[in-house]
Amino acid sequence: MTASSLVLAISFLPFFEAKNTVVNNIVNPSPSYEAKEIDCKKPDLLTREKCPACKASGIIVLEEQNFGQFNSYRLERPKKIRQKCPFCNGRRYIEAFYNPTELKLLVARERLKFESDHQAKGEVPVGEAFIPKDAYDKLDRKTVKLLKEAYGEPCRSCHWLGITPCRECDGNGYVNCPNSDCKGGWSVTKTESSYTKTSSGGGLSGGSYNRSGSSRRVTRKKTNVNVQPCPECLGVSKIICPDCNGKRALPCKKCNALGTK
Ligand SMILES: [Zn+2]
Ligand SMILES: [Zn+2]
Ligand SMILES: [Zn+2]
Ligand SMILES: [Zn+2]
Repeated sequence: MTASSLVLAISFLPFFEAKNTVVNNIVNPSPSYEAKEIDCKKPDLLTREKCPACKASGIIVLEEQNFGQFNSYRLERPKKIRQKCPFCNGRRYIEAFYNPTELKLLVARERLKFESDHQAKGEVPVGEAFIPKDAYDKLDRKTVKLLKEAYGEPCRSCHWLGITPCRECDGNGYVNCPNSDCKGGWSVTKTESSYTKTSSGGGLSGGSYNRSGSSRRVTRKKTNVNVQPCPECLGVSKIICPDCNGKRALPCKKCNALGTK
């Protein structure tokens, strides 16, 4: 998702403005609404996205590559397996947070817009809130403190977002398959087997003339290449991040996902 489509999808401005309305309602109670009714919820940061594993097809097609298993004689043809995508479970879309890096930029940009809009109206900051200049001049210290608390400060860890990017997957939602034998979704293992071959020596035919020691026993080694769909990633070569469960971000621990402190 590009930054511009994210801007269209969600906005933090109503959240910043709603909080500001609550603060201004304390300064100058308005009979037209009650503070309780003001919706100060952050925008929903979860979105439905195309599954990155199957490109929203719902299926994974696994075509067996040659890892050396075709060199020995073999009667079967390369395997081709069609299966339900293990990432989205065939649903084609996954639920994840918007790209955490883009969200960070968005919230910073909108916070700046909120501040400049209110400064342009000649309002003055009280903590993170803005109130009219004449109202500010009448405030005592105790009320100023109350107003600051009513708006809240941005959480230092998540800056209003309430989520932090998952470190385990760098905000991707998936990690490389942990199976060290996994090659592009196929589990490739090699086993060595040895076998003993007896070859009869000497030029004479007929068992009775065969001197003891003339038949040689030779031990040979054979490498078997075993190829099967990787049991860890089921052919995707990546697995859903175990930390964020594919959601790319996690609720911020510092602020209990509130975004403020
Ligand atoms: Zn999928
Ligand atoms: Zn936080
Ligand atoms: Zn794998
Ligand atoms: Zn993760």
